[in-house]
Amino acid sequence: MKSFKIKFWGVRGSIPTPGPSTLKYGGNTSCVEIQFQDGPLFILDAGTGIRGLGNTLIKKGKAIQAYIFISHFHWDHIQGLPFFRPAYDQRNSFLIVGTDDAAINLADIISFQMDPTYFPITIEDMTADIQFKSITEENIQIEKVNINTMYLNHPGYALGFRFSYQGKSLVYISDNEPFYTAETHQNTAVKDIPSDRPEKIFDSFIEDKDAKLISFCQNADILIHDTQFLPEEYQNKRTWGHSPYNYTVDLAVKSNVSQLILFHHDPDHNDEEIDKIQRLSQKLIKQSQRPISCLAAMEGMEISV
Ligand SMILES: [Zn+2]
Repeated sequence: MKSFKIKFWGVRGSIPTPGPSTLKYGGNTSCVEIQFQDGPLFILDAGTGIRGLGNTLIKKGKAIQAYIFISHFHWDHIQGLPFFRPAYDQRNSFLIVGTDDAAINLADIISFQMDPTYFPITIEDMTADIQFKSITEENIQIEKVNINTMYLNHPGYALGFRFSYQGKSLVYISDNEPFYTAETHQNTAVKDIPSDRPEKIFDSFIEDKDAKLISFCQNADILIHDTQFLPEEYQNKRTWGHSPYNYTVDLAVKSNVSQLILFHHDPDHNDEEIDKIQRLSQKLIKQSQRPISCLAAMEGMEISV
C-alpha cells in the first residue's frame, strides 16, 4: 500500500505558456495535488493548473474538502484560484495555508487579487467554506500529516514545505535560489519586518541557510525543486529567486533524496530545452554515483510513494 499519490497540474514558472512548443511538459503555472492514502487532500499552490484539478474533482460528484498550501503570492502561484470551481459550491470546504507578507496578511493577499478592479467577482462570491491559516517557519500537524516549513531565497516571503506521512516524505520548493548568492533577498526583508513579527526567524536568513536547506530536504523520498535555468542563464538572473539545474542537483545529492523532480520551468524554455535540462541533470547525478531518479515535471505526471 502506497502512502500518497501526487499529480502535477501545473509545472511552469512565472506565466502560462500555451502553444505548440510546450505541449510535452505543459504551460500551466504551479499546482500539485497530493492525495494521502486514507488521509487528506492537499493542493500545493494555486497557479492556473488548479483550474483543471478543480474540474476533475467536481466530476467525482462528492463534497470536496482540501488544504491549499500557497508557497508565496506571485501571480503564478495564485492566479488560478478565481477559476477553481469547487470554491463556488457551498458543500465544499478549504483551508488556505501560507505565510503573511511583511505588511499584509494571508487572507487579504488572496482576497485582493479578486478586487473588482481586477476581476468581476469577489472572494465573498465563493460560497464554499474558506478559512485561512497564517504560518511562518514552523512545524504543524494537519490530520495525520506532519508539515515542516522553511523560508526560501526568493523575493518577498516564500515558504518551502516538507510533508511527512506514514514514514514517507515529500519536499516542495517551488521557487528558490541558492543562498550562497551574495545578495539575498532576505537581507532586505529583515529590515522590513514589523515589530510584532517573530524577528528571530528572519534573522536566520543570513546565516548558513544552504546548510539548513540541505538538512530540511534530508532523506526525502521526493524533492520537487525550482530548476528554472541553465547555469549560463543564471549568471544574468541572480536575485530573481530561481535556480540553475546544477544547484538543484547538488542540493538533491547532498540531501540524499531518492527522487528529484525538476519544477517551475522557465516560460522561455520550449520542450526541447527542458529535455536538455533533464538530460544534463541526470548526467550530473550519474557522475555523483548516487541512486537518485530524476525527471522534469510534466503536466499530468503522477507519482506514488
Ligand atoms: Zn513562481
